[in-house]
Amino acid sequence: MRSLSGNSLQNQKLAARAENHPAARSQNKRGSRLEVEHVSLTYQEGTPFAVPALEDVSLSVHAGERLAIAGPVGSGKSTLLAVLAGVEPPTAGRVIHEGGEVTSRRQPPAGSIGLTFQSPENCLFEKSVLDDVAFAPRRQGLDEREVKNRVIDALSITGMNLEQFGHRSPFSLSTGEQRRVALAGVLAMEPAALLLDEPTAHLDPLTRRELIERLVRLNEATGVTMVMVGHDMDELARFAQRVVIIDGGRLAADGAAADLLTDTVLLAGHSLDPPGTVELCELLEKATSAPVTAVIEEVKALELLLGLIEKRTGGSQLCR
Ligand code: ADP
Repeated sequence: MRSLSGNSLQNQKLAARAENHPAARSQNKRGSRLEVEHVSLTYQEGTPFAVPALEDVSLSVHAGERLAIAGPVGSGKSTLLAVLAGVEPPTAGRVIHEGGEVTSRRQPPAGSIGLTFQSPENCLFEKSVLDDVAFAPRRQGLDEREVKNRVIDALSITGMNLEQFGHRSPFSLSTGEQRRVALAGVLAMEPAALLLDEPTAHLDPLTRRELIERLVRLNEATGVTMVMVGHDMDELARFAQRVVIIDGGRLAADGAAADLLTDTVLLAGHSLDPPGTVELCELLEKATSAPVTAVIEEVKALELLLGLIEKRTGGSQLCR
């Protein structure tokens, strides 16, 4: 379906850890498959304050894919993420993990789904960063050496390190650091599916970019399924293989990131901007009066730009 309505060290470490990741160990390098079928959710249903948040949404998240959920503010993105995770029971419809329906009696196995909320820093509670990130692996019964390895790896994915931050109180950190610690705590569980609600909010531009790159590498190395809610279209373009748009609680579009994020008419119809690369391609088209196929990869956009400059200058401007 397309539109319904219209630094090498880190790489090596991730690769090495991939072999031991549960998704790799138990499922032949595949993360969990998550599905919702005809899901509707109304908050405070049956009261005068009832708010319909999702209406008849059906969605399959394939094992190992990186899916982004986009949409206007208040469209139901966070609600869909919580329903997918099995933590927010729908008013109607079914939630299915790995082929089995999630019910109040049958919950996903502990540690199999990692969900970060919009304000994950509210979930911090231990006296040190080390203990906070180590909480889930310790509960999983791992020995202290493995726990420490997981803490080091999880912190490094979020751009932090144990030496500098391990002994600090989580409550003495900046909001951005707290968010990274909270995300590290979820990563340290090594879940088979990682559901992320605006994980880069409150981070500086470089840290945002690095975090997205590390998440992509983690997904490629381990096969962990990833679903991310976000509103920064450049980030979604860097992250996602597939994108769904939620608008008014309904699934409005579902397609390959390269198709959907270059469809400026579709995006505008849901109050969304295209990524910067697409805007650049439009500018190039206007400037040259020649058709330019829009792309979402920054490297490809740069190649297009350089190719056009080269054509105009015969390459002389590029050879300083
Ligand atoms: P998004 O993530 O797209 O911004 P949400 O899923 O957070 O949207 O919210 C969807 C709708 O549900 C909004 O109208 C929001 O105000 C409402 N909503 C979200 N959480 C609650 C809640 N706990 N109680 C009542 N209404 C809620």
